[in-house]
Formats: sequence, C-alpha cells, structure tokens
Amino acid sequence: MIIPVRTKDSTYEVYLGENILKAFCDRNTEGFEKADKIVVITDENVWGLHRDYFDDNFSFNYQVHLVPNGEACKTFDSYFNVQTFLLQENCSRNSILLALGGGAVGDLTGFVASTFMRGIPFIQIPTTILAHDSAVGGKTAINHPNGKNMIGAFYQPKEVLYDFHFLNTLPKSEVRSGLAEVIKHALISDITWSNDFLKLESIDAIQKEELLVWLEKGIRVKARIVELDEKEKSYRKYLNFGHTYGHAIEATIGYGKITHGEAVMIGMIPALMLSEIYGEVKAGYARDVYKLAKKLEYNFQHVLNSPFDQLATFMLKDKKTTNGELHFALLNHIGDPFIQIVTMDEVKKCDDLLRKWIKEEI
Ligand code: NAD
Ligand code: ZN
Repeated sequence: MIIPVRTKDSTYEVYLGENILKAFCDRNTEGFEKADKIVVITDENVWGLHRDYFDDNFSFNYQVHLVPNGEACKTFDSYFNVQTFLLQENCSRNSILLALGGGAVGDLTGFVASTFMRGIPFIQIPTTILAHDSAVGGKTAINHPNGKNMIGAFYQPKEVLYDFHFLNTLPKSEVRSGLAEVIKHALISDITWSNDFLKLESIDAIQKEELLVWLEKGIRVKARIVELDEKEKSYRKYLNFGHTYGHAIEATIGYGKITHGEAVMIGMIPALMLSEIYGEVKAGYARDVYKLAKKLEYNFQHVLNSPFDQLATFMLKDKKTTNGELHFALLNHIGDPFIQIVTMDEVKKCDDLLRKWIKEEI
C-alpha cells in the first residue's frame, strides 16, 4: 500500500505493508544502483534483532553505522560520529542514508542527512509504532543539554518504508508508547475511530490486523496535516495535541525514564479536560479516555512525581509558548482540533483534577 505525501518542496511516498523490504528494493533498484554508497544508520537493539532479515532482503551493497539505543543517539557526539563515518567512507552527494529504527534513529539520521554536504537523500525505515508518526513529516533533530529537539531542520525523506515485519519484536512498553500517538491521531481526526478505542480492554487484546489498519489511518492523518502545513505555521500545531503538558511531564521525569508516548497519553487528559471547557467536547470524555489509558496500563504515577511548579516552568519554555502565552492544541469536538490560548491557572485546575483522579484510584 502506498500513501503519498505532497509538500511544497517535495513529494514522496510511504510504502507500507508486511515483509515488503524485498519489494521495496525492486521498486527502487534504479535509485539504489545510482548511489555511490548506501549507509544504514541503526541502533544496536534493532540491528541485533533484524540484521538477518535485512541482509536476506536488502539486495544492494551497504555499510552499517551503529548508534546507541534510543534517545542516547540524539546527541552532538553521536551526530559527529555519524558525520565522521560518512567522511571516512568517502560518502558524497550521491550517497543515500537509510534510517533503520525508531523515532530517535530517524530524527538523528534525518538531521545528519540534512547537513552532510549541505543535504543528501535519506529514507526512513521506521521500526516502532511511534515512528509511524515521526518518520512522516520531515521534522529532524538532535537534543541539546538545554532542551530536547532544539537543534534540527525540516527535511523530508526521499521515501518511507514501513515494513510491519519489524514491529514483531517490540516490547510491550514500546507498543504502549507508540499507541498513544495513534490514539492522538484518532482524537484529532475521527470521532468514530476514537470511540472504537474506548472499547479496548488491554494492550494484549489488540489484534495485529487491527493495529495495521490504525497505523495506516494514523499515517494518513499525519500526511494530510503535513501537506497543509509543512513548517508548523498553522494546522501542524494540531499534532501537538497532548504534547504541551506531555512534554513537561517528559522533561520533569527525565528523558529515557518515561517513553514519549506515555507522556503524550498523560498529556492528552488535561488537553481533553480543556477541550470540554473551551470546546464542545461532551463532559466526561476526558474521564473516559483516562479510564482507557488506565486499562492500557499507562503509568499516571509520573504525574504525582512531577510537582506542578516544575511542569509550569517547562510549559513556559515550550517551543509553542510565545510571550508567556500557552498555545494548546484542543478539540472543538472529537476529531476537530483548534488552537487556544490557555492561562496557567486553567491548566493548574485540570492538573489538580487529574491528580485527584489518580489518587482516588491508588
Ligand atoms: P526510540 O527510537 O528511542 O526507540 C525506542 C526503543 O525501542 C529503543 O531502545 C530501540 O532500540 C528499540 N527498538 C526500536 N525498534 C525496535 C524493534 N523493532 N524491536 C525491538 N526494539 C526496538 O523511540 P521511538 O518511540 O520510536 O521514538 C522516540 C523519538 O522520536 C524521540 O526522540 C522523539 O523526540 C522522536 N519523535 C519525533 C517526531 C518527529 O516528528 N520527528 C515525532 C514524535 C517523536
Ligand atoms: Zn509526539
């Protein structure tokens, strides 16, 4: 299956399905044959698990550069090491990078590709559920000690290959993390799909076929929004639903100590509470989604471990905050997002209510 993404500067395709690496090679023979080097950037976990599958199905010569697992690869050091590797291997403007991994490898590789010799092509090969989101849209970045994703570029991949084969080895915690972005895509686009989620009893109850349909839908939502607004001047801000409070939780708890998706799931609850206040989302929906999140075993203890003052400090530092005004992506109705300026007092009230819910159930 193919989902096109048409941005102002480029058009590319997300090619998705199960066990499609070989077919992907056939489809791209010309491009790969023209490249003077093909370099796979991947992390140790992913390479350990999928080296054989990759070797058996990827039909061209390639080199591999391994980076640390997860968020640890989005450092200046690791960025520098990849660039050094590319120079040592005599890569040129005719080389292609393949980002084989989760969002972290994708973000790093995309940023390297955007700057190596002022820009070389790269292909995203996402291996996590979360990366159905991060691999599409062209946001690339590494972290600075003063802030996550602070150094980066908008740089679209040449193509995205989403081979569901890779998802088979994901631990449950990563399934849970990725699922939060899928639920976000449902909430900002489609009430029927969102309501379907409310019926879900547990992570284990998710059927693979069902998950694949959700991933396809999620990619379509993301692609449509990126097409409307590649550089996040308007519509793309809707994708930040759950992220203002979620990022603050992530920063307070510490990157790596909580997954991105878990933080986003937590952040969607205050965002839904605010949507009941500022939008016309029916009263009780935030509570319903909270109950769903509990059934799926998202850990809300993180909220109790995050003093509100600290959350407030991070929310004020958010890239989306301007002149001290908090710009929240909210929902007018489920499936119908908008941007609302919200006071910190109002956020505090939602935070208080969420803490009350969490404490009641302990
Ligand atoms: P990740 O890339 O850190 O991967 C999570 C863990 O799963 C890692 O330890 C990795 O080694 C392992 N892993 C990856 N694929 C696996 C597989 N198939 N089987 C077993 N283990 C596997 O995490 P992620 O959740 O995919 O991505 C998070 C990153 O994405 C963050 O850095 C976040 O900032 C970024 N992000 C970017 C965007 C964007 O638009 N660019 C959007 C959302 C998130
Ligand atoms: Zn996110």
